[in-house]
Amino acid sequence: MRFTDKTVVITGGNRGIGFAMAERFANEGAKLIVASVEEQVHEAAETLRQAGAEAHGVICDVTNAEQVRELYATATERFGGVDISIQNAGIITIAKVEDLQEREWDATMAVNTKGVFLCCQEAIRRMRKQGRGGSLINTASGQARDGFIYTPHYAASKFGVVGLTQSLAKEVALDGITVNAICPGIIRTKMWDYNDRVWGKMLGDYGPGELMESWVQNIPMKRAGEGKDVAGLVAFLASEDAAYITGQTINVDGGLIMS
Ligand code: NDP
Repeated sequence: MRFTDKTVVITGGNRGIGFAMAERFANEGAKLIVASVEEQVHEAAETLRQAGAEAHGVICDVTNAEQVRELYATATERFGGVDISIQNAGIITIAKVEDLQEREWDATMAVNTKGVFLCCQEAIRRMRKQGRGGSLINTASGQARDGFIYTPHYAASKFGVVGLTQSLAKEVALDGITVNAICPGIIRTKMWDYNDRVWGKMLGDYGPGELMESWVQNIPMKRAGEGKDVAGLVAFLASEDAAYITGQTINVDGGLIMS
């Protein structure tokens, strides 16, 4: 119960990796604000409440600064502030360079990089006012280490997350706020279903699940990750045990990328 009396905000918290994080924090006593663009976020909050947690769902598009302000205002009104903020919302598309649309570039940057920044900005503003420190964790990707084929926009957006993490970590270190990034590898979620389908067709006419299985063979641990694998790292980074860790980017990928 490391997070009793702590409030955690998780964007993209209604499903996939974000929901696995929410469950982990809920199991360790935290109060949860889960955010996403779809109505489904309320169902996710209800599931967390049924499991005994204090949880509230907020519809928030992380690319919209006003909605982001309201998200953190809700955390303050409902649960008295924010102690841990996890910038996890993300999108991906896959296209050959000449087919990649300008709007795909802009949308990916807006969610994956600007959205992370806007949430960090508002969380920091509130954490500084609260005066009790805090922890920010930004979801980057293995593509923040090694850009994969047909996703230059996604890779650029995730490298951007690492840069803003380092810069912010330096600025808020003396406020007792840590800022770190994580790089998940191949994690079984809806996003990977899309990757498997589209990359699979582009890279060699793989059937459903076959591309994932072939990439898994490159993972030293020979298995794809689950949301709970990522949640374990995030819970550590948000805990007192990680109080002296900031500005770092940590892979959670079964050894796929070693850097
Ligand atoms: P999913 O596609 O399952 O979930 C994405 C989440 O982001 C959803 O909750 C979605 O909300 C939310 N989201 C998308 N756009 C916005 C927006 N504009 N504002 C608020 N929320 C938004 O993905 P994963 O769980 O797999 O991925 C989570 C994070 O992990 C992402 O940042 C992704 O890039 C990263 N990642 C994932 C990997 C993987 O293998 N799965 C590998 C490396 C990194 P809604 O449901 O309402 O649309």
